Amino acid sequence: MKSTMQHVPLAISRLLNQGSRFHATSTVVTWTGDGTRTLTYAQVGARSAQLAHALRGLGVDADQRVATFMFNNNEHLEAYLAVPSMGAVLHTLNIRLFPEQVSYIATHAEDHVVIVDGALVPVLSKILPDMPTVRHVIVTGGADGTVLKRPGVEVHAYEELLAAQPTEFKWPEIDEDDAAALCYTSGTTGNPKGVAYSHRSIWLHSMQVCTAEAFGFGPADKVLAVVPQFHAMSWGLPYAAFMSGASLVMPDRFLQAEPLVRMIEQERPTLAGAVPTIWADLLRYLDDHGGDISSLREVVVGGSAVPPTLMRAFLDRYGLRIVHAWGMTETSPLGSVARPPGGLDEQSEWEYRISQGRLPASVEGRLVGPGGEVLAHDGVSVGELEVRGNWVTGSYLHDPAPEKFDDGWLRTGDVGSLTPDGFLHLTDRAKDVIKSGGEWISSVELENHLMAHPDVVEASVVGVPDDHWGERPLATVVLRDGATADPAALREFLAARVARWQLPERWAIIEEVPKTSVGKFDKKALRASYAAGELDVTSLA
Ligand code: AMP
Repeated sequence: MKSTMQHVPLAISRLLNQGSRFHATSTVVTWTGDGTRTLTYAQVGARSAQLAHALRGLGVDADQRVATFMFNNNEHLEAYLAVPSMGAVLHTLNIRLFPEQVSYIATHAEDHVVIVDGALVPVLSKILPDMPTVRHVIVTGGADGTVLKRPGVEVHAYEELLAAQPTEFKWPEIDEDDAAALCYTSGTTGNPKGVAYSHRSIWLHSMQVCTAEAFGFGPADKVLAVVPQFHAMSWGLPYAAFMSGASLVMPDRFLQAEPLVRMIEQERPTLAGAVPTIWADLLRYLDDHGGDISSLREVVVGGSAVPPTLMRAFLDRYGLRIVHAWGMTETSPLGSVARPPGGLDEQSEWEYRISQGRLPASVEGRLVGPGGEVLAHDGVSVGELEVRGNWVTGSYLHDPAPEKFDDGWLRTGDVGSLTPDGFLHLTDRAKDVIKSGGEWISSVELENHLMAHPDVVEASVVGVPDDHWGERPLATVVLRDGATADPAALREFLAARVARWQLPERWAIIEEVPKTSVGKFDKKALRASYAAGELDVTSLA
């Protein structure tokens, strides 16, 4: 029997209408450094219609790609809503990639238009000559775009372009399976790969973000979206905000701890999302300078493993609950969120909270061993996590990449275990796990222990070649000002926590752990520095 239910496409334009009409007074606040710019969702809706008319005028009449080269701000939100709603495809370019990667991605995606923040014009001007498909650049913030002028490329001012346009747009009917937005993986190995989200996948993902199992957005919430709109669609927070009526606070380019604390004190967000390195910076700032973050009900942190000491420190010193989550660009990105079951004692609850979390109903997971065998979800067996589901990609744009898929499942490259009740415990990335003799050493476990030492600000552990064992761990550590610990003391500290054979022999005290374009520890860069003899390594047997 077929169901009797209606089929109405899950279109982004419906999110736009919902937010701008029924949550007309919700706001998006953009931080400007010396103040804020506030727009209601009604205004964002009107400006999105104006942007769509303007883009039509520039020849965007089908599924052309409209790229953004922007921080998190209201204009970026307008592009998020207008571009897919008009049937075109939003392509969020990562502003922190190397120029040749940006031009590769823009050309691969065949970007027709680029909307750029005024502050990023100097960066884009160096890349634009190598973006042959781009015909129009739209500059926000009243900035001078003259430097971008070149044959074949027209430059427009965002506000001027919008001002002349009507504030209503008749959004077209779309197929919910059509691409709405495009985001490339950060591509630490090889060229970045394109993930094309559909209207449907974004819709379903937004509903998941709004559930209590995930972020629990409601109309009374105010969400500080620190995670960049160019990284995995800012975890879908902008769309979920328009769906639920939650207001948004956008930090623009002010991502350092000091302005973030001022933003929190002034705008009093109830929720926030960012990667662990941002929270680690914030914690150090708060410890040194103080600050009021009491408006935050909780924050969701993911993108790399959250050190349990960071979670503990925020809870004990600032009463702030960090909720650990896992995801990837390929999974829209929301995968698991660590919300423990009820009725547990404190210790058991903590064990759940430091895991990567439980997979939701729409994302199925399985573990696969080295021989391709499917492993038990017993909390003990360790293998590569594979996932499939309604907002998980099934291929890459113009690149089927069969090695990334296994019989319809996405190979995540993450290694860990799954408990019978669906909680994921990741031990490492497959390429970062240290293969010492026949044994595997989890770099993340060593890092988490090291970062629990009071003198340690950051620690990153990578596998380096070893004549005898094949690979052994190298510990690179950033020490606090005035720290007294040295490698021998740190090794002693670790010895009380992990098996002796896992203890690193090689140690380097460094100024800062290198970070990727999306703020994760750049282990590839660390391994390269070591190989080039650039690190001052202490050997301890
Ligand atoms: P990206 O596509 O840049 O967001 O990177 C996705 C990858 O980040 C995942 O495959 C994981 O390796 C890593 N990752 C994300 N969240 C976590 C987490 N909570 N714990 C450990 N690794 C994570």
